[in-house]
Amino acid sequence: SDSRVTNFGAGPSALPESVLQEAAKGLLNFRGTGIGIAEISHRSKEFTAVLTEVESQIRTQLDVPQTHSILFTQGGGSAQFSAVVLNLLARHRLLHPDLSDDERVLDYVVTGSWSKKAAEEARRLGGGRVNVAVDARPYSKDARSFDNIPAHDTYSFSPDSALIYYCENETVDGVEFSNDASSPASFPFHLLPQNALLPLVGDYSSSFMSRPIPRLADHAVVYAGAQKNIGPAGLTILIVRKDCIVDVDAAAKLGATPVPITMSYKTLADGNSVYNTPSVLSIYISGLVLKHSQELGGVKYYEEVNKRKADKLYAAIKEGEAKGLFKAKVKEGSGSLMNVVFDVLGEGAEAKFVSGAEARGMKAIKGHRSVGGIRISLYNAVTEEQTDTLIAYMKEFLAQ
Ligand code: PMP
Repeated sequence: SDSRVTNFGAGPSALPESVLQEAAKGLLNFRGTGIGIAEISHRSKEFTAVLTEVESQIRTQLDVPQTHSILFTQGGGSAQFSAVVLNLLARHRLLHPDLSDDERVLDYVVTGSWSKKAAEEARRLGGGRVNVAVDARPYSKDARSFDNIPAHDTYSFSPDSALIYYCENETVDGVEFSNDASSPASFPFHLLPQNALLPLVGDYSSSFMSRPIPRLADHAVVYAGAQKNIGPAGLTILIVRKDCIVDVDAAAKLGATPVPITMSYKTLADGNSVYNTPSVLSIYISGLVLKHSQELGGVKYYEEVNKRKADKLYAAIKEGEAKGLFKAKVKEGSGSLMNVVFDVLGEGAEAKFVSGAEARGMKAIKGHRSVGGIRISLYNAVTEEQTDTLIAYMKEFLAQ
C-alpha cells in the first residue's frame, strides 16, 4: 500500500512524518552542499555542525550538567552492556588498585529481560563479582515474571561498588521506574550514599527523551540506543560523568581488562565522538527529531502527552479486565508509559484482535516473542490522536 499506517512497534519505531519528509530532502542534498547526508564526510564542517547541534539539543532539553559529557557511538544498547562494565571496572581499578576481582562488586537491579541480559554480560566479562541488588521476579504475581518494580526495602546495594546498574524502562516486560520520587515504584536513590560520585548506570534505551531524567547529575552513565524515541538504529547516545572517562590503558597496566579502543569512553571523548566514522545518517535524523521535539516543548511536553496516552490506554485495559477479555500483565503502579503490555483472553481472541487492528491501519502490536501477548509502544512520535484511535478500536472489540 502507498499510505502509512500507525506503527506501534517497540523499536525501530515510529518517527515524526514531517521529520522523515525533511530527511528525504537531506538524503539527496544536505544543507545545500549538493551531497546527500549518507554520502558526506563525517569531518565536513556541515556535519560537524550537526553533531554540535544534536549535543546541544540533548544538553538543553535534558538539562545535562557541565560535569557530564555527551558522547555518540555505535553498537546499540547491547554494546553498552559490555562497555559500562569495562570502563567502570577500569575506573575502580585506578581508585582501588589492590582489590581482588572478587572484591570488586557490580550491583545489578534486575527488573526485566534487558537488565537481566546486562547482568549476564557482566558475569561473562569477569573482572568483578556481580551482586544482584534485587531481582523483581520473586515479587511478581506468579513469582517468576518481570511484572513489577520491587519495593524499596528489597534492594541491597554494596558499599563502594564499581557499578550500580538499572534499566529505566524494560521494553519487553513493560515495567518502568516512576519519575515521581514519592511513588513506591521510583528508583531508590535515597538508599545510595550522598555526594559520593556514584557509579550509577541507567539504561534509558526505550525512554530517553520521553520525559526528564530524575537525579541525572548522580549518574555515572546514562545511555540509550536512538531507535525508539530519537531516530534510526545505529546511534547510541551516552551521557558520562567526567570522572568516569578514565585512562583505560593505565588501568590495564594495573591488571584491569583491556578495553577495545572504540569502547573506551576516553577514546570517544578525546575524539569528540569522531575517532572513527560515526553513524552519520542516524545522527542527522536524530538531530531533526530533537529539533522537532524542542519546537513542541521538549521533554516536559512529551512527559505530559505520554502520561495522558498511557493513562488512557491502561484505563481501557482495565475496562477489558472488568469484562474478562483483557488482562494487564504488569502490576498496577509499575506499568511503563512507553511499552504497554496485556493479554487478550479467550481462544483465538488475540489473533482476532491483532488482525482487526491491522485492518484499521494499526501495526506491530504483538508482544516480544519471548513473552507473547500484546505490546503497544507509545513512543514520542505516536500521537495522542493515534492512541485514541487504538483505544476506540479496543472499546469496539470489547463491545462485540
Ligand atoms: N536495552 C533496552 C531497554 C532495549 O530496549 C534494547 C533494545 N530493544 C536494548 C537494551 C538493546 O539495544 P540494541 O538492540 O540497540 O543493542
